[in-house]
Amino acid sequence: MRTQRSLKYPPRGASMAKKKVRVKLINIRHSFNETPDLRDLVSACLRMPPQDIISIQIIKRAVDARQERLDLVYTIAVELYASQKVLNEILKRTDVSHYDTIPTHRPHKLKKNQTCSPVIIGCGPSGLFAALTLVERGARPIIFERGARMVKRIRDVNEFWTHGVLNIESNVLFGEGGAGTFSDGKLTTRIKSPFRQKVLHELVKFGAPEEILFVNKPHLGTDRIRQIICAMVDSLGKRGAQFFFETKVHRILFENGQVNSVQTNRDIIKTDTVFLGCGHSARDMFESLRQDGIVLEKKGFAVGLRIEHPQEFINRAQWGKWCGTPGLGPADYFLTYTDRESGRGVYTFCMCPGGYIISCSTYQGELATNGMSYYRRDSPWANAAVVVTIAATDFKAPDPLAGLEFQKALEHKAFIMGGEQFKIPAQRARDFFKREKTKIDSATCSCLPGAMPADLNELLPEFLNGPLKQALEHFNRKIAGFIDEGTLFGVETRTSSPVRIKRHAHNFQAIGVKGLFPIGEGAGYAGGIMSCAVDGIRAALSFDQD
Ligand SMILES: Cc1cc2nc3c(=O)[nH]c(=O)nc-3n(C[C@H](O)[C@H](O)[C@H](O)COP(=O)(O)OP(=O)(O)OC[C@H]3O[C@@H](n4cnc5c(N)ncnc54)[C@H](O)[C@@H]3O)c2cc1C
Repeated sequence: MRTQRSLKYPPRGASMAKKKVRVKLINIRHSFNETPDLRDLVSACLRMPPQDIISIQIIKRAVDARQERLDLVYTIAVELYASQKVLNEILKRTDVSHYDTIPTHRPHKLKKNQTCSPVIIGCGPSGLFAALTLVERGARPIIFERGARMVKRIRDVNEFWTHGVLNIESNVLFGEGGAGTFSDGKLTTRIKSPFRQKVLHELVKFGAPEEILFVNKPHLGTDRIRQIICAMVDSLGKRGAQFFFETKVHRILFENGQVNSVQTNRDIIKTDTVFLGCGHSARDMFESLRQDGIVLEKKGFAVGLRIEHPQEFINRAQWGKWCGTPGLGPADYFLTYTDRESGRGVYTFCMCPGGYIISCSTYQGELATNGMSYYRRDSPWANAAVVVTIAATDFKAPDPLAGLEFQKALEHKAFIMGGEQFKIPAQRARDFFKREKTKIDSATCSCLPGAMPADLNELLPEFLNGPLKQALEHFNRKIAGFIDEGTLFGVETRTSSPVRIKRHAHNFQAIGVKGLFPIGEGAGYAGGIMSCAVDGIRAALSFDQD
């Protein structure tokens, strides 16, 4: 399909009485199979002569398969010449509104001369975007990443998925790019921050396809993400950031309520500022913070199983009669349910169309599942987590790390049920209800490094199995065959952080200690690639603002 993101036209014959204005137009649509000139559509829709339309810019593009016709639907920003009278007329319409461009993000330079470089722990989205912002502000941050650089990391992960040999420091969660490197690379988020655009534009600068700026559900795939991360790290390195891979921070050292230095497996480095973007799986770091008296609190999260269906089945269910239309791509879904009896929410999470179910362990003897796909999303399988909410109050113990202990216990059980080789315990969804084991092999699932037949009823506690089964039955009413066509895998525990490092809302610094900026998913204030990246930017902007 032809991309017409931004088209500029000279203002031919624009009359003096007219002024330049910007409006936003929603619900511009055309048939999926046609490629009309969008400017003509806009001009017809506004009933304005084409020469008064200066430029158009697609803000959003989505597929609408719910109507009689399969459509592409656009939200478009239009710059045009219009008299006040005409503008007043068009603004009366419900599909037209004023549109102000988001001001270009220009980070302010640092106020003080830095005596020592700020340190960033973790090279995931939060750490990388904090690094970018600090570099833009004139700092030379030092980034410590416990995991390996991309090439070695990919080798380590392949070794894990092929032979079940886990490297506890270089794996699906630890290494250059952080947890999102082996992911679907979905860039969707519920946060409304203006920095989302900044993140998208930076990703495009480092090699992401331009479509992520406007498609409804942008995604990159693990293949694209890997390239983008490497380009970003190389570029930041050239601009003054210093990266140290395979360098684990064991401890952050404090003196008189102020960050003093960090102790790595190689050295002690003096610094008064640490951005802690360690992700939700750095359990040793949480333990170290607890010992140092940093204020942590339990946080709600969700656990459950991952379900896989043939992608063809999901396509038929979601695209209906449009299934098979060239260029439509694999369908996705998002389903929710509230279990009245327990009050727990159940929802599908991290859906990966045309993807793979992966084992993503970080500790020996523990197994957790997740989903990944390539940019083309061309595997014959569709998977999504089906997870049940767990509230902080579910853990009666006052220990802020109680949720981590719960995760660990479940992951250990999954490891045992998987035959102690990181194979993923699996069961046909209908057999989950019957409590019967199912024969599963690599031809009947996508999962890496393979599946092990198990009764998943034994994996999760009953207070989670109940709502999960209710939800599956509900989802089966939404998508007929959801149970019969599905296979379940477990255990899905790393949905978000079960712990929060408490920080001040106004300056992003940890409560009770100066110079420590907990950021991203591990801090417990963000989740997902986009929101973690934005969190890193915002924290880095608040640095040096006291
Ligand atoms: C398989 C998978 C698929 C996913 N798919 C998506 C998706 O499609 N879309 C989406 O939005 N989100 C997805 N996520 C979630 C997303 O990846 C995370 O929310 C995001 O990466 C969190 O960013 P972060 O910077 O906070 O932490 P992370 O990305 O977890 O990065 C933390 C980094 O810190 C390093 N580190 C930890 N401790 C130390 C230490 N002591 N010293 C030095 N370094 C340390 C780690 O090695 C790691 O590289 C997925 C996650 C996984 C695991």
